[in-house]
Amino acid sequence: MAEQDYYSILEINRNASQDEIKKAYRRLALKYHPDRNNGDKAAEEKFKQINAAYEVLGNEEKKRVYDQVGHEAYTHQGMGGGAGPDMGGFGDLGDLFGSMFGDMFGGGGRRRRSGPVQGEDLEYQLEISFEDAVFGCEKDIQFRHHDTCSHCHGEGCEPGTSRKTCPRCQGTGQILMSQGGFFQMRTTCPSCGGVGSVIEKPCLQCGGKGRVTTLKKLGLHIPAGVDTGSRLRSPNNGEAGVHGGPPGDLYVRLSVQDHPIFKRDDLDIHCTVPIPFATAVLGGDIDVPTVYGKERLTIPAGTQNGTTFTLRGKGVQSLTSRNRKGAEIVHIVVEVPTTLSSAQKSILKQFAQSCTGLESQRCTEFKAKAAKYMK
Ligand SMILES: [Zn+2]
Ligand SMILES: [Zn+2]
Repeated sequence: MAEQDYYSILEINRNASQDEIKKAYRRLALKYHPDRNNGDKAAEEKFKQINAAYEVLGNEEKKRVYDQVGHEAYTHQGMGGGAGPDMGGFGDLGDLFGSMFGDMFGGGGRRRRSGPVQGEDLEYQLEISFEDAVFGCEKDIQFRHHDTCSHCHGEGCEPGTSRKTCPRCQGTGQILMSQGGFFQMRTTCPSCGGVGSVIEKPCLQCGGKGRVTTLKKLGLHIPAGVDTGSRLRSPNNGEAGVHGGPPGDLYVRLSVQDHPIFKRDDLDIHCTVPIPFATAVLGGDIDVPTVYGKERLTIPAGTQNGTTFTLRGKGVQSLTSRNRKGAEIVHIVVEVPTTLSSAQKSILKQFAQSCTGLESQRCTEFKAKAAKYMK
């Protein structure tokens, strides 16, 4: 699934006021709230997205950065902040739930589930050669990620032990806090992070997190036609989930190396080819390089410096459409000879003399337009 822009997640346009953002958030959050959707996975996912979007757009400072830098600025933020070891690095849903919905749902002593949570997505930067981008390739990559702990199978408890009811909140996940003596407020239990249970004996391998950091090796198929900035999704190769949740995805962001003679412009490939002065004047056939091998190109007599020739079908195959393929654009550079023998010089002088009185149309036109500035 493609990453959605935070504005479209909240169904607002880019110049929405903070008031409108808040309204949109409340409306959508109510609609997709887990308690109203009977554990529907899609609704829960939507609810998370809405929260992530509001976390950024509802904050002037973060919104400013988001507007400037774009979606990437916050894509990998908002997860894993400050949660206890037995939470496996999650706390987004619960914290927002508590702070935003305390008033709307009465903040009742509802026990929060320590249900499965999906692992975070990861991003990997990969540099590939010009030709690998054009033709596609297979690449082996290595990266650090969190894998489910094999010792405790992700439970976080040392084998043979289990979680026990949190002594601080008695399993409710919430505690009462007095405020100024008049009001009592329910807030997320800091001991268990709202889960209602704590690990009695943390797993010796993962320290109770349920996940361990490992080096993962992965074979990637890079399709033909990718370019700098292309992002490939490798499903389920992100961080492991927590409490039996599914893993996140791995995103591979590509950058393509420069090539000594070819330059990419979307599906077209540009190549600058020098030709001898005489060939430009008299015409002739030359061989030009393409990524598919050499091509014969006929240079007509009188070819000017900077002339371009288009070789259809010699560009890049479109990543998305099978029947779209770019061209190679050949840019001709006429080489002016710099090392002439005296014999050659005298021939050229003869040639120059023979040109006396003859002038190209281009020169004549130019002189007419320039006359005013040549006084
Ligand atoms: Zn473990
Ligand atoms: Zn607790």
